[in-house]
Amino acid sequence: MCLFCKIIKKEIPSNIILENDNFLAFHDINPKAPIHILTIPKQHFNSFTDVTPETMAQMTSFIQEVVKEVKIEESGYRVITNIGENGGQEVPHLHFHILGGTKLKWGHFSDSDPQGHF
Ligand code: 5GP
Ligand code: ZN
Repeated sequence: MCLFCKIIKKEIPSNIILENDNFLAFHDINPKAPIHILTIPKQHFNSFTDVTPETMAQMTSFIQEVVKEVKIEESGYRVITNIGENGGQEVPHLHFHILGGTKLKWGHFSDSDPQGHF
């Protein structure tokens, strides 16, 4: 069972912000911003590549609920999902990072030359 499936089953503790039958939002253990939340579907999908449009529709509503819960809907925030090796995905269970609480920088996405060959 993957790490986030264990968090869903409460076999591994997490700092939960919001939960319903299908989704869970909890604080990232290694925050990269003052607010850094992970939102996950309880159904296991390896990544965005595998998720269904139906789950994504519900995920949209859930993320909107989470940002209201932590009161960053006015100040702004960023939603990111990393996919696969080049995307920098470390946990193979679909998750959306919600980052906020400060003015986030933009850029520095790669250590390689952006003009180089893809
Ligand atoms: P990825 O790099 O896969 O997009 O993001 C994985 C995220 O999960 C990282 O930001 C990392 O800090 C977070 N993470 C890894 N292990 C745990 C854990 O056991 N608990 C929590 N709350 N976050 C975790
Ligand atoms: Zn999983």
